[in-house]
Amino acid sequence: MKDNEDIRREIITTCNFMNDRNINQGTSGNISVRVDGGFLITPSGVPYAEMQPDDIVFMKIDASHSGPRKPSTEWRFHRDIMEKKPEVGCTIHLHSMFCTSLSILRREIPAVHYMIAAVGGPTVPCVPYVTWGTQQLADYIVDALKDRLACLLSNHGMVCVGPNLKRAAWLAVEVEALAAQYWRALQVGVPHVLPDAEIANVMERFKNYGQGDDRRNPSCC
Ligand code: 13P
Ligand code: ZN
Repeated sequence: MKDNEDIRREIITTCNFMNDRNINQGTSGNISVRVDGGFLITPSGVPYAEMQPDDIVFMKIDASHSGPRKPSTEWRFHRDIMEKKPEVGCTIHLHSMFCTSLSILRREIPAVHYMIAAVGGPTVPCVPYVTWGTQQLADYIVDALKDRLACLLSNHGMVCVGPNLKRAAWLAVEVEALAAQYWRALQVGVPHVLPDAEIANVMERFKNYGQGDDRRNPSCC
């Protein structure tokens, strides 16, 4: 059995889930998950429906990698996040419709719904445009994620992180929902933005939300 076979399968299941849910499409986007000695990352340009556990690439923090496939062209930001943010266990990148539409306008998502507290602050910032796969893009993303769990990439898409694959995938769906709500509200009028103090209050309340197993709760699964 291949190393981390279960995690490899979970990555593929999550990639297919993202495409089936219409929050990603084609071979866009990529996922990495921390494992002993480095991280696993999706291969570049392999259709998710055809992806096999062996196609997932094992990469060390020094960027050396093994296996039959080339890693995602976005390995730089996945690597830098794993190196600089030890609390992160999973990074997800998507070209989801509403996050990407806002990123084309180069607009951050403001606190138009209290669920923005799930990203750890009152905005989902939008980093400047640079070509995909570059070190400059990695630097911008790591900077934006200093005090947030998600950011938009101008004219490109979004990135989010979590302590594990389930939490990061949950957050990806929530951030795309926020972007869709903001986009739709903008069609009708001027959205009301909640004050920063209210988002800080909501972040506190999330700590005790639900039965202790809800993904809003920072100490959950
Ligand atoms: P990869 O197929 O190389 O992961 O690239 C997809 C992508 O979204 C680049 O930004
Ligand atoms: Zn991309």
